[in-house]
Amino acid sequence: MYTIIDKTPLSHNVSRMEILAPPVARKALPGQFVILRLDETGERFPLTLCDWSAAEGWIRLVLQVVGRSTRKLSLMEAGEGILDLVGPLGRPAEICAGEHVVCVGGGVGIAAIHPICRALREAGNRVTGIIGARTDDLLILEEEMTAVIGIGPVNALDLALRKALMVFYPSIKEMRLTDYKVRVLESNSTTAAKVRVLIETTDEKSTWTTVGVSNDIIEASLIALVDSIEYKLLK
Ligand SMILES: Cc1cc2nc3c(=O)[nH]c(=O)nc-3n(C[C@H](O)[C@H](O)[C@H](O)COP(=O)(O)OP(=O)(O)OC[C@H]3O[C@@H](n4cnc5c(N)ncnc54)[C@H](O)[C@@H]3O)c2cc1C
Repeated sequence: MYTIIDKTPLSHNVSRMEILAPPVARKALPGQFVILRLDETGERFPLTLCDWSAAEGWIRLVLQVVGRSTRKLSLMEAGEGILDLVGPLGRPAEICAGEHVVCVGGGVGIAAIHPICRALREAGNRVTGIIGARTDDLLILEEEMTAVIGIGPVNALDLALRKALMVFYPSIKEMRLTDYKVRVLESNSTTAAKVRVLIETTDEKSTWTTVGVSNDIIEASLIALVDSIEYKLLK
């Protein structure tokens, strides 16, 4: 059995699911998929690997309800189990380096390009993501795509730090930011409020969180980023 550990509805007929499947998570590469069979009488059907954590043993799938099996899966909840799950299958996406790559995804297809965009960026490409959908509610994973493609000053800071340090400390290349959260502390003091930035990083062997606090969001991000790199180097 493969246990569903989390389920999040993304729109009226699209859901995201995290499933415990350590052997798949260990070997997954961008562009690959899994085949599921929900129970003894179920049909086999493929879904693309949207994300995974080798350290924690989970895979993330995004499914759109179109027929019987996808409907049945969409009605399952965290804690329930899937009978069969085979993968990773299919030829992984080709990841070049030093290019400008444009990735285009529509609707549930955005989930499929998500890990490809991330791998392309980590390989040192400039990545432009174009996502779209028939209607607003079908436009999914906007934040996740922004995070993997990297926009804005915090991302520029992260890239600059890595670029400068990677020459001396090649192990930094194994690091990947998996989450970035900002919380405003003392919210009644408006512009003078302090912000707390929480950064989650993984190197596929473990995951760690670092925190930065400052009046300036960029400085708070820098503190958290530097701590994250130091932790990796001292590990
Ligand atoms: C490699 C690969 C990766 C994929 N990755 C993803 C993914 O990440 N996310 C995702 O959501 N999907 C993905 N898909 C598509 C997904 O596999 C299909 O949507 C799924 O197999 C449909 O199974 P089902 O049993 O729900 O639908 P089925 O019952 O097989 O129905 C499929 C289609 O036939 C129509 N249909 C069914 N019965 C009838 C009938 N009696 N009369 C008329 N029409 C009918 C349905 O409306 C539907 O349009 C992927 C497909 C492939 C090949």
